[in-house]
Amino acid sequence: MRVINFNPGPAGLPLPALERARDELLEFQGSGMSIMEHSHRGKEYDAVHEEAISLLTKLLRIPDTHQVLFLQGGASQQFAQIPMNFLTPETSADYLMTGVWSEKAFDEAKYYGKRRIAATTLNADRRYTRIPREDEIQVDPRAVYVHMTSNNTIYGTQWHAFPDVGGVPLVADMSSDLLWKPIDVSQFTLLYAGAQKNVGPSGIVIVVVSKAFMARGRTDIPKVFRYTTYAENNSLYNTPPTFAIYLCRNVLSWIQDVGGLTQLEKWNREKGDLLYAAIDRHPEFYRAPVEKDSRSYMNVVFNLPTEALDEAFVAESKKAGMVGLKGHRSAGGIRVSLYNAVTVDNVRTLVSFMDQFVRTRG
Ligand SMILES: *Cc1c(COP(=O)(O)O)cnc(C)c1O
Repeated sequence: MRVINFNPGPAGLPLPALERARDELLEFQGSGMSIMEHSHRGKEYDAVHEEAISLLTKLLRIPDTHQVLFLQGGASQQFAQIPMNFLTPETSADYLMTGVWSEKAFDEAKYYGKRRIAATTLNADRRYTRIPREDEIQVDPRAVYVHMTSNNTIYGTQWHAFPDVGGVPLVADMSSDLLWKPIDVSQFTLLYAGAQKNVGPSGIVIVVVSKAFMARGRTDIPKVFRYTTYAENNSLYNTPPTFAIYLCRNVLSWIQDVGGLTQLEKWNREKGDLLYAAIDRHPEFYRAPVEKDSRSYMNVVFNLPTEALDEAFVAESKKAGMVGLKGHRSAGGIRVSLYNAVTVDNVRTLVSFMDQFVRTRG
């Protein structure tokens, strides 16, 4: 029996994508072996690789100016790889600080060049509970890029309009909200996402990068870390994570089958609205720290009146078939991750559990 999985990442995957993998696991399309056992240079794997790229390109309407890359090392490696490719000791990069992941990205840049905080919403409690307002963002027009985190997985905040950075290349960590809704890719010079939250399994990072920007990257760094190496080889410079890419292909194909990103956005908004309505019905019991206009549709965080109640909430929800609700160790409380694989019905089940929990424990 599968549970209702609210894990923050690695996260639940859509059942049809897993069933397809199960059905093809021992023998991929009559080839006598699984896709994992095929050469990454053979025609079977090549078709999967191309399909994953073309599905992503279609779903996100990626323009010709940009290229899709499949890399490894997680989103954390991108924190380092971006400055490694584009920053020099003489140049400077700007960072918009909205949470733990922005801080980690900012930290890695110091090894390569100058860095500057263009906005931060860190508050007196050393927490982040909102996205900066446009007038709080001071971008250096000479910055080689501005880095932002589109959705803050730990603090449960999300950018609902992307900032105007006045022509400076915008780089976004979209690890926890890529594919939650349609976006205008041309606004971003580079966007990246570790797949294990909203797209697929761990072990693969999706990068969508401007070809012109990539061409300006440094060439005095090892080849294996240059974006151009992967671009020139269609992400087949060395052995890619073939099974992870295969599973992403299954997920992307499921997204297309259910109606693409427009449909996912409808479901995701419905899920988030249902859950925030439940929280707002009992504001004394479910305390949401995030300012309303910064609330995330992917990760919803709240605290119960005591830590003991937080623990009881997690334990009792588990008995009711729901897992993954414990908040991040740095934030505490409860976190509900509502990625694409979570259904509207799953959220209805959680919401009735929450209403019931207030009646018995409130
Ligand atoms: C999970 C997460 C990361 C870290 O991803 P890894 O693939 O584990 O390196 C980075 N950024 C955001 C926004 C995340 O949610």
